[in-house]
Amino acid sequence: MFSRINRLRKTAVFRLTLWYSAVLVLSYFAVLGLTYSLFFTSLLRDDRTFIRSKLGHVVARYYEAGLQAAVKEIEDENTSGEPEPYFARLAEADNRTLYLSLPAHWQGFDVGLLAQGPPPASGTWISLTQVNGQDVLETASHVLVDGRLLQVGKSSGDRNHVLGHMLRVFAAVIGPLVLGGFVGGLFLARRHFRPVRHLTRAAKAIVDTGRVDGRVSLPVRRPGSELDELVVLFNRMLERIESVIAGMREALDNVAHDLRTPLTRLRGTAEAALLPGHDLGAAQEALAECLEESDEILTMLTTLMDISEAETGTMTLAREPVDLVPVLADAADLYRFVAEEKAVTLSLPLPPALVVVGDRRRLRQVFANLVDNAVKYTPEGGRVSISASKEDGRAVVVVEDTGPGIPPEETPHIWERLYRGDKSRSRPGLGLGLSLVRAMVQAHGGTVEAASALGAGARFTVVLPTSSAACPADPNITKM
Ligand code: ADP
Repeated sequence: MFSRINRLRKTAVFRLTLWYSAVLVLSYFAVLGLTYSLFFTSLLRDDRTFIRSKLGHVVARYYEAGLQAAVKEIEDENTSGEPEPYFARLAEADNRTLYLSLPAHWQGFDVGLLAQGPPPASGTWISLTQVNGQDVLETASHVLVDGRLLQVGKSSGDRNHVLGHMLRVFAAVIGPLVLGGFVGGLFLARRHFRPVRHLTRAAKAIVDTGRVDGRVSLPVRRPGSELDELVVLFNRMLERIESVIAGMREALDNVAHDLRTPLTRLRGTAEAALLPGHDLGAAQEALAECLEESDEILTMLTTLMDISEAETGTMTLAREPVDLVPVLADAADLYRFVAEEKAVTLSLPLPPALVVVGDRRRLRQVFANLVDNAVKYTPEGGRVSISASKEDGRAVVVVEDTGPGIPPEETPHIWERLYRGDKSRSRPGLGLGLSLVRAMVQAHGGTVEAASALGAGARFTVVLPTSSAACPADPNITKM
């Protein structure tokens, strides 16, 4: 129980509730203070209005009917207590008291002090504090025409009684109010922080088990709220991480699988060469085969690393202005011989120049791979065209062939590492060319797309920005 409370005390929910309660109490005191002062001012004004009105009334009576009539009027009102009792004092011009009336329940005021000293001027307010210091007798003075002095006053007792009652009500309310505010605040804060608790639980489960297949199972109650959005994003992030891990696992499996074949061949060749009865020529031939196999393995590993570097953004590109026209012509020259052997026509409708900013060697690698595929997959007598143009300030290169095209079900996979189309397995290749092309083009801030109608050839479109942000690098060019 204690440990639970202790844990709760450390939570953001508790601290938030505490702040909330503190703000509530402060606001309560601010409202209380304001109400009290408004009430006090209003009651004081009422009392003074009453005193002024009584004073005027008695003065009028004095002028109307003389001293006796005025005194009688005071006596009558104070005896009946209607409408309210009040203090009255009549004094000679030298301030000697002639008449004094103090309601019986207003005791403890030293009214003799009023007779001390010279008489005050008309309109002067004098306050006498009760002996016990509780109430104050406030008096207003008026000098009559014959020089006499009339003073009328009222005790602050009634006013203090009302204000005291008000304070007691406030004091009685504050306890339940703070408690209610704290409990309510705790409830609301806990409710509000529910997504955070679920997130913490899910993150803890990932840390403890290392599995990322769990999700925060919390329905979105208020779309657009920050915490609900965080839950949705957290789940999406887990989905991405899961798919990346699955992709990495798959790639690793594929690499292991694809490495096994050349490594087994290499081992078999070496083993066969070691068998007795082989002459030097056969051993040399076996060594040459081993070299070829190891080259293939090395190429595969280098390309995989290049792709990974380009995709993760760690590849540094040696950027410079590059005219794509000679780069494309070089790529075509590289495969012209193979194309001629297959009677495949290579056409290059190129503009005089098309300059982009990029890494010359990487760009050469991109187009070499595309031309290689086009020539490789186009049957005898077919055509391969490499065209380039500038559109909307971007360089657009199209490598098109009249080969078998790409089946629609394979199109989404051709960019995956080590993926090879069903019909392509009989042809040489590692299934890394297009992965490398896409990774490089994207590292240059461009895009590459494949379009193909089955049987009607394939068309690869590379779009490159003609200027882009700088990034250094110079890895080896690898051709699959
Ligand atoms: P590889 O050519 O070594 O198999 P790539 O990554 O270059 O690997 O290409 C992946 C797959 O895409 C190929 O196996 C092939 O099925 C398909 N492909 C690529 N280019 C073409 C093309 N020009 N015509 C038809 N299919 C193609």
